Amino acid sequence: MIEKAIVDHPNVKVVAMVFHETSTSMINPVSAVGQLCKKYGKLFSVDCVSAAGGQNIDVVENNIAICTSVGGKCVGAYPGSAYVCARKDLLESLTADQCKNVYLSLYKHYRTAVETHQTPNTPNVNLFWPLNVALTNILEDETLAGRIARYQRCAKIIRDGVKALGCRLLLEEDQAANTVTSVFLPAGIDAQAFIDEMMLRGYTFYIGKGDYGKQGMIQVANMGEIYEQDCLNMLEVLEVVLNKMKK
Ligand SMILES: *Cc1c(COP(=O)(O)O)cnc(C)c1O
Repeated sequence: MIEKAIVDHPNVKVVAMVFHETSTSMINPVSAVGQLCKKYGKLFSVDCVSAAGGQNIDVVENNIAICTSVGGKCVGAYPGSAYVCARKDLLESLTADQCKNVYLSLYKHYRTAVETHQTPNTPNVNLFWPLNVALTNILEDETLAGRIARYQRCAKIIRDGVKALGCRLLLEEDQAANTVTSVFLPAGIDAQAFIDEMMLRGYTFYIGKGDYGKQGMIQVANMGEIYEQDCLNMLEVLEVVLNKMKK
């Protein structure tokens, strides 16, 4: 379908995709679409907001020209900081008139960074600092491969655990992200009431987006400072609440 859309619209310059579609916890076929972009000479732009630090993102292999992410998700800093990773020739080719607003001008951010090592406006020091610490923690301590492996172990504990308690997963293992699990609660349990009960016991879950919520789906994340034992503890509480609500 994407190849047909590219062929049918020869004037299109950019193909944009989300790496980890957080609303369903699905990993999109970035590699395959990246190869299509290579074949047809399109710029490939990828939203890696909930993927950077949680998935293997090979920008060269996947032909990604530009991608974006934030401090607050898998990297484990605070929300509010954002960054761009792009091919240098693309950044060098930007012009001021391409950018449609004052603050989100990549041209201005890039030129100011290159020429003055500064941001165009007052720098967000209180968010840069934790972002730098979070990245240093990954690079010098846990390693990126180590972080991804931990996320995979935690997701597996959560997935095996909820399945053993009679829940169904939205996605097959090979499509699922390392950091979010979409779970259908057993039939007859109201998802919002369940989330409220878990909240009283110190756990925050998201209700499934749109119809998924009505069908009893919730989302469980294991991003950031969450370890195997935290997942096991959560499952114990989840079992208690499920048993209470089944009665
Ligand atoms: C969270 C999220 C966003 C929004 O990021 P904010 O930091 O909340 O602005 C965009 N895209 C994806 C895929 C996300 O998961």
